[in-house]
Amino acid sequence: MSTPACAICGKPATPEYRPFCSRRCADVDLQRWLSGRYAVPAVESEEPSDEVPQPD
Ligand SMILES: [Zn+2]
Repeated sequence: MSTPACAICGKPATPEYRPFCSRRCADVDLQRWLSGRYAVPAVESEEPSDEVPQPD
């Protein structure tokens, strides 16, 4: 098994924080992920629409 490189800084990842090398890098990735998630417009189709009557 090879040690994966930290996805943030490229240093060898540690078992405690893998796939990152430290808590800091894990936080950086988390913030990136959250930023990207919130940057994406909400998908309204996931919610049921009241304009479509359901056949009884
Ligand atoms: Zn790192």
